[in-house]
Amino acid sequence: MLRVDLRELTRAGAVATHGELQQGDPALEGTDIALREPVAIDGRLQSIGEGRFYWQGRLRTVVQGECRRCLTPVATPLNLEVGALFTEDPEAEDPDSYPVPPEATEIDVTPVIREELVLAPRYALCREDCRGLCPQCGKDLNAGPCDCVPATDARWQPLKGLKDKLRS
Ligand SMILES: [Zn+2]
Ligand SMILES: [Zn+2]
Repeated sequence: MLRVDLRELTRAGAVATHGELQQGDPALEGTDIALREPVAIDGRLQSIGEGRFYWQGRLRTVVQGECRRCLTPVATPLNLEVGALFTEDPEAEDPDSYPVPPEATEIDVTPVIREELVLAPRYALCREDCRGLCPQCGKDLNAGPCDCVPATDARWQPLKGLKDKLRS
């Protein structure tokens, strides 16, 4: 349940929120989030005063990320602790709070989940020793060296010639 009935919340003081978001859920519409696993949500919404509610939750999922060096798609596990304030006060001082319209009968926590997933860093390394892309030609250096000659190599050419001469 990711929507909480406001009457129930007011009566009970706090309500547990458990649920799952799948790829294609309307809550993720318009984002570039690609889920490799559904988002598992665990949390608790509580009444913390007149028209104010605080949701504390944990999100677990695996999203499609990108290697920050070579841009290969990488599975990126996310495990996020989330806290969000919902308020009926239209002039709430906290700009990060989520508005609850006066005529609302329920609170939906999915906008918070969307926001957290959009903001979560999705960059990882495909492997610790990823060589990345050549800054000059863009070739994936994990597949082998490219034909670009690094500028610094030229310095060593005379030395190499001398070595070859000594060896012969
Ligand atoms: Zn990589
Ligand atoms: Zn290159």
